[in-house]
Amino acid sequence: MSCKPQSPSELSEMISDLNRVAHNLWWTWNQGAQEIFHDLSPRSWQNLYHNAVAILHEVSDYELRVRLQDPEFCCRVRQVITDFNAYMSDKETWGRHNAEQLLKNPVAYFSAEFGFHETLPIAAGGLGILAGDHTKSASDLDIGFVGISLFYREGYFQQQINQDNWQTEYYTLLNPKSLPMEPVVDPKGEPLVCMVEIDLTDVYFQVWRVNVGRCVVYLLDSNRPENAQHHRDLTRRVYGGDTSMRIMQEILLGIGGVRLLRALGIEPSVFHMNEGHAAFLTLELIREKQASGISLAEAMARTKQECIFTTHTPVEAGHDRFGRDLMAYALMKMANQLRLTIDELMGLGRVNPKDNHELFCMTVLGLKLSRAANAVSELHGQVSRQMWHVLWPECSVEEVPIGHITNGIHLMGWMKGPVRRFWQRRLNASQEKNQESVNPPASETTSCCKNKPERQLEKEANTIEFWQKVADPGFVSDEELWALRYKLRRELIEFARRRLLIQGQRLSQSDFIAFDQLLNPDALTIGFARRFATYKRAPLIFDQFENVIKLVSDRQRPVQFVFSGKAHPRDDEGKRYIQRIIHLSKFSELKGRLVFIENYDVHIARQMVSGCDVWLNNPRRPLEASGTSGQKAGCHGCLNMSIMDGWWREGYDGTNGFAIGGDSHPDFVEEQDRMDSENLFKTLTSEVIPSFFNRDAQGIPRQWIQKIRRAIVTLVPQYNTWRMVQDYATKYYLKK
Ligand SMILES: *Cc1c(COP(=O)(O)O)cnc(C)c1O
Repeated sequence: MSCKPQSPSELSEMISDLNRVAHNLWWTWNQGAQEIFHDLSPRSWQNLYHNAVAILHEVSDYELRVRLQDPEFCCRVRQVITDFNAYMSDKETWGRHNAEQLLKNPVAYFSAEFGFHETLPIAAGGLGILAGDHTKSASDLDIGFVGISLFYREGYFQQQINQDNWQTEYYTLLNPKSLPMEPVVDPKGEPLVCMVEIDLTDVYFQVWRVNVGRCVVYLLDSNRPENAQHHRDLTRRVYGGDTSMRIMQEILLGIGGVRLLRALGIEPSVFHMNEGHAAFLTLELIREKQASGISLAEAMARTKQECIFTTHTPVEAGHDRFGRDLMAYALMKMANQLRLTIDELMGLGRVNPKDNHELFCMTVLGLKLSRAANAVSELHGQVSRQMWHVLWPECSVEEVPIGHITNGIHLMGWMKGPVRRFWQRRLNASQEKNQESVNPPASETTSCCKNKPERQLEKEANTIEFWQKVADPGFVSDEELWALRYKLRRELIEFARRRLLIQGQRLSQSDFIAFDQLLNPDALTIGFARRFATYKRAPLIFDQFENVIKLVSDRQRPVQFVFSGKAHPRDDEGKRYIQRIIHLSKFSELKGRLVFIENYDVHIARQMVSGCDVWLNNPRRPLEASGTSGQKAGCHGCLNMSIMDGWWREGYDGTNGFAIGGDSHPDFVEEQDRMDSENLFKTLTSEVIPSFFNRDAQGIPRQWIQKIRRAIVTLVPQYNTWRMVQDYATKYYLKK
């Protein structure tokens, strides 16, 4: 078979297939596909921030046809298209064997944010990233799954640091035409328009479809000419505005989402509320049943059987609460339709329905109207049962019906390109070795495409057996692992220098920082990146400033820090944290050994979790329900150093990373902060640094690499969404 296309029509077909690939986020976790879009125009790939759809707009049809005359390139394109089609039509899937009923009646998964990729910045943080990773694994497993969210046309804010090292926010308008999304249309080809009532007004919305492998996520968009401006702006920004904006967004998400599913003829077997934002969907489900003549009590009971709820945080501000006036105003029509007084409606979101002072809490509504609920780690399960015991006073705390499924990450979406190739090569080598013992070495393959399909690693990467091989030095040697660590650290440093140069140029500060001397490729590199919510205590390590200075000034055992993260626009405390860290990076002895990369997003996250040696996590226990960024570190050989909170409390086994403090915490936060910063330092100086710099005659830190092996073997196959979505399916989605 020749790789050159045979005819112009075949070329046209390839180009149309390539467009199909660009419009399915599958390409964001397929290396071959990403390389094709990159190679079409490497510079644009960078400038357009890795946007496949925009690349295909950038490259003319003629140019594409000419490029496809190159047999090697054409062959790779063909391979990607073949892989994509094979992925989409695969029938031998976990879902078909284990969750067939969901393929007919899918899971409807409602989330106020979804984080898929840097080009579609409609997530504020971990909650959205988790929803995106959940979707990708639902697709890989072939679970019937539809996502529901909003299309925020200005997304989440972009962060810029000003002259005073203060975070400023700006917004860019997202253009659906150059994003992997398509308008949902009715049978006549017109945009499908649905409606929700907010106060006395009918608010219309249109819908965008995002393809995520085999799954679809629908994004509701109220930016319609029929609507008043303030209603059009409901879908402007992620969590933008005050509580009245918030309640209206949540009405659109919950109630609008159910109406959309009805309009599309999708009959979910279960409604999954990812956090309280979506809990109004229960009101719509009750209303529908009442409208068909079912009593309120029965409608509520049946609705409860259709819903499950996941709570994501013990932090008070993470639970939306609305006052009576706002509820009465926003949901007046809904209350009428439900034939409820406002006080009865309020009761659905109150712990004590009769308490007129209690606000309406979305979490309470979600918990009351779901057949099952879960927290996102074992410890968070305990904390949540304690926290919501008031709703089940007749039970003991242990009996409170909130279970847990520990969060994970979508491995192939997070694994950096060079690391995929690294593991794929090890896999190929081990298979060849096995074959050699049976057959003579396989002769050069005759097919035009010599690349082994990537799907092999994709399949293997989700098995315990594959990662167990990493314990074996015959599968991967210490030297290979250490070389990989150096390569990834170097890539991060180059990325950081480039970003800081751009940051510095904007502030005309390039004169007093030598950007090509920022950071040291031989230094133990400690990373911290996440939302700058105060409970995460980003600057905790600098509480011991004198000690930090000693560490970074040690020429024999250099240590350095890379930080990144956004504070919520209204969180001045979080912004002060950022300011303090940047100030230290510019004006203290930490200069050149501490950097802050602005505008944290998925791309920065990927650079950091792969390039750092240590991933630092020091939340105020037990407020980090799970945390997921540390889970992204594992497959890259980056080790966690963390407070025993969230997922790390169950992931850490004494050999696979580092613990800060123990499995308890003091009652008073002042004492906790003081103890934790001391413990952080103790771990760093007595375990982390000695182990990293303990090199043998070949210059290899054997002990450190042993920890990397242990981390990979014990954590990677466990803390991923492949395992997590299976848990959701078997424990919660499938009716027993
Ligand atoms: C993974 C990720 C998060 C979540 O990080 P945590 O440590 O769990 O808070 C937040 N933002 C981005 C961009 C991420 O990739």
